[in-house]
Amino acid sequence: MSTRTPGRMEVAGRPLTCVVCGGDTFTSRTVTLITSGVANSGLNKRADAVTCAGCGYIHQFVTGSVTPAAE
Ligand SMILES: [Zn+2]
Repeated sequence: MSTRTPGRMEVAGRPLTCVVCGGDTFTSRTVTLITSGVANSGLNKRADAVTCAGCGYIHQFVTGSVTPAAE
């Protein structure tokens, strides 16, 4: 999942709002969490990260529960 255009997101069926600025538009990308202590080992968990379009705060989710909201 990768989105360049800021848009609204949902988590578990609820609209996501930024915990810092209260904004409701985000861009998303998939990131790798270094959970094994070794980068590029193939043993790390992947996560969805959505970046607030307003303040840049990154919200991370490991469950894949964040989805673009239906307009
Ligand atoms: Zn924000």
